[in-house]
Amino acid sequence: MSPLSTSSAATNKTMLDRYMRLPTPENKCQVMYVWIDGTGEGLRSKTRTIDFIPKNPAELPIWNFDGSSTGQAEGSNSDVYLYPVTMYPDPFRLGNNKIVMCETYKHNKLPTDTNRRKSCLEVMTQAKNFHPWFGMEQEYTLLDIDNHPFGWPKNGYPGPQGPYYCGVGANKVFGRDVVECHYRTCLYSGIKISGSNAEVMPAQWEFQVGPCEGIEMGDDLWMARYFLHRVAEDFNVVASLDPKPITGDWNGAGMHCNYSTEKMRQPGGMKYIEDAIEKLSGAHVAHIRAYDPHDGKDNARRLTGSHETSSIHDFSAGVANRGASIRIPRNCSEDGFGYLEDRRPSSNADPYMVSEIIVRTTCL
Ligand code: ADP
Ligand code: MN
Ligand code: MN
Ligand code: MN
Ligand code: MN
Repeated sequence: MSPLSTSSAATNKTMLDRYMRLPTPENKCQVMYVWIDGTGEGLRSKTRTIDFIPKNPAELPIWNFDGSSTGQAEGSNSDVYLYPVTMYPDPFRLGNNKIVMCETYKHNKLPTDTNRRKSCLEVMTQAKNFHPWFGMEQEYTLLDIDNHPFGWPKNGYPGPQGPYYCGVGANKVFGRDVVECHYRTCLYSGIKISGSNAEVMPAQWEFQVGPCEGIEMGDDLWMARYFLHRVAEDFNVVASLDPKPITGDWNGAGMHCNYSTEKMRQPGGMKYIEDAIEKLSGAHVAHIRAYDPHDGKDNARRLTGSHETSSIHDFSAGVANRGASIRIPRNCSEDGFGYLEDRRPSSNADPYMVSEIIVRTTCL
């Protein structure tokens, strides 16, 4: 967790708004370059002025940063390259300003260790005739700047879980402003956000992105995470993706991955869903290693077999079973086609790694 422990950095947002409304030159824009740092879960960003209005990320210059400050290079050879790969309208600066998701490359032009997008894209390209679709459910917990869950009593706990999931009212949900603002930033920028809800633990929330085909899943989810951290920053709260932020009788946080291929989505598709589950059952250990940034250690705190999870040690599958590794939604079972839900990925998993291994295991 972050060592920050004060809230003294809060600033006056009315003043901010006045300056953000200053006119800027018509032929220039600001581009925020975003990348995944050396932890595989942290995001970093920096801005440059571009002297034209870009139409796609390939028009943008390759840039670099000090990798020794992000866990991505040695100090003696510290330049890491930023390759812009996906561009979005900037929901914070508005106008012609852009935000770009970047891949990171070392001085020798090899991908950095936490650049998982490159191999994900290779797999998605090989499997493109399967038309793999993903829908990810990103759960997260809002924390006060002192790392205490947002809205929880400072000396103690809220009442037990029960009334909070999809709840309404100031005593049931904490931080809805963040959720609503985040949803709009995603819609504004063309991220395929498909819903949001309050979760079982108070101050815990979820948003869903999808269905997205191929590499778009990882791109959109990482950028949606960046937006979430920015919106939370504006409200002086922190969005934690830790999979078990509070120990005890409190739900953890996951990133369920809903998945289908074209054949699964067509009448009779259940046969292909069952084939995929059979293949997934033989690769459980490899999947658990890919489903959080620490080879399964983070998920070990969450996948206990309680709190709507399966045990990290066992593979299981079932219709409408929220205690299984893989759930076939009830409506898909009734239709005989649709998609499956892999409930194992941790909330802090890398969506590039999750989507890549699912396609590797089930298609290639
Ligand atoms: P849950 O019932 O598990 O809470 P949600 O409604 O939160 O499910 O999320 C379901 C996700 O499944 C959404 O992101 C949606 O886009 C995605 N989805 C729907 N149909 C498909 C499909 N055919 N293939 C992959 N994902 C899908
Ligand atoms: Mn400098
Ligand atoms: Mn959900
Ligand atoms: Mn959920
Ligand atoms: Mn789910």
